[in-house]
Amino acid sequence: MIVGDEEEPAQAVKAYCDACCRTTADGGQELQLAVLQATWRLGAIHEGERYHIRLCEECFFRVLGDLRFQRAIQEPFDEPAEILRTFGRVIDKRGEGELEKDE
Ligand SMILES: [Zn+2]
Repeated sequence: MIVGDEEEPAQAVKAYCDACCRTTADGGQELQLAVLQATWRLGAIHEGERYHIRLCEECFFRVLGDLRFQRAIQEPFDEPAEILRTFGRVIDKRGEGELEKDE
């Protein structure tokens, strides 16, 4: 949930994680939130359903950890430690791109 301008999250005054209900603001400077969303279309098991979930940093990394685990067990012989470290990340802390694979 965002309190303030929904269309311009930078102008919003507060946002709350949809999972844990804590604020996602980082000391009042900027909102820090992740969005997990999906629109399931024709042929999908969940056809017609839409999801839009705002997550705080802690909840985002909890979900990402589960996804990383699922990926690691799918390819147990493909250096799972490397997959666990970088799965899903497209830019690292230095602002450098990390993943160009699979596309
Ligand atoms: Zn949360």
